[in-house]
Amino acid sequence: MADFDRRTALKGGLTASAVGLLGTHTVSAAAAAPGVQEPQIYGTAAWNARPPNGSIVVENHKPTYIVVHHTVDPGNVTDYTLEHAFWASRSIQNFHMDTRGWVDSGQQFTNSRGGYLTEGRHRSLEILRGGTQHVLGANVGNNNSTCIGIENEGLYSKEDVTPALWDSLVKMVAYIASQYGIAPAFIKGHRDFNSTECPGTVLYNRLPELRTAVGRLLGSASPKADLPEWPLLKPGDTGPRVRTAQELLRARGFAVPIDGVFGQSTKDAVAAVAAKNGLVRDACGATAETDETGFLGSDVWPLIVGPGSDPRALKAQLAG
Ligand SMILES: [Zn+2]
Repeated sequence: MADFDRRTALKGGLTASAVGLLGTHTVSAAAAAPGVQEPQIYGTAAWNARPPNGSIVVENHKPTYIVVHHTVDPGNVTDYTLEHAFWASRSIQNFHMDTRGWVDSGQQFTNSRGGYLTEGRHRSLEILRGGTQHVLGANVGNNNSTCIGIENEGLYSKEDVTPALWDSLVKMVAYIASQYGIAPAFIKGHRDFNSTECPGTVLYNRLPELRTAVGRLLGSASPKADLPEWPLLKPGDTGPRVRTAQELLRARGFAVPIDGVFGQSTKDAVAAVAAKNGLVRDACGATAETDETGFLGSDVWPLIVGPGSDPRALKAQLAG
C-alpha cells in the first residue's frame, strides 16, 4: 500500500520531502479504513441484556455464511426509535431464554425497523471485531457452526422492509463479510438451510440485490449469478413442483396422491421425513411463531431425492 502510494506520488512529480509527508499521512489513513467501516452496533450492555444462562461457545474458525432472518413478531411496528430497538432485543432474548431454554439470544445480531443494530448473543460484537472466530448461536438449525445470523425485526412474507432497515442490513452484512472475507454469494436466507418461510418471501427475493449492494461496498467484481436453491413448498401450494415432490415421496414409500396439490397427506409425509431425520430450524424472533410443520424446503428435498437422481439437475429444473 505505502509502496504503491509512493510510486504514484513520484509519478506525479512530488519532491522527496513531500513524499515523506504523504507517506505518513497515507499510513494513518489506511489504518483508519481497512475494508468496510463498522456501522454503529449497540452492545448487550447498551440495551440492558440479561447475563447469559451458561457459557457462550466461541469456535476457532470463521463463519461460512451470513444468514438473513425476519423476526415475525412483533410484526411491522411503526415505532422506529432506539428505545424500541432495545425493547425488541430484550423481548427476543427473554423469549429465547425463557421459552426456548437457550443460554442467550439465538442470533448474533438484530436489526430494527428503525435501522438500529444491536448485538444479540453476548460476545458477538467483540468476536466479530476480531475477525477470526465465531460465536456459536442458535438461529439456523443443524447449521449453527457455519452460520452467523441477523434477525430483522418484522414480517416480510408480503410486505417490504423499511428503507432504514434495508440500509442498516446492507451495512451490517458488508461489515461481517469484510471482517471474515465472506464473498457475497455466501449471503443466504434462513430458508436456504431449513424448511421455513423466514426471512419472508419479499425479503428473500431481495437477497440478490443485497449481494450486489454488499459486493459494491466490498469493492468486489460484479457478483456471479445466484445459484438456484431448493424451492420452499407449503401446504396449500399447487403446481408441477408439488407434483414432483409427491412423486419423490411416493418413491420413498409414502402413500400420497400425485395430483400437484399440497394437501394433508403430503404435509404429513413431509413432517414425518423431517421428524425422522431430526430436522430443526431454530427460532426466529420474539414470541409465538407461525406453524411451519410440513413445510418442504432446503433440508427436506435432499432427503427425498432418490438415489438414482441428480440433486443438482433437479434443483435447476425446479428453479426454472
Ligand atoms: Zn430465521
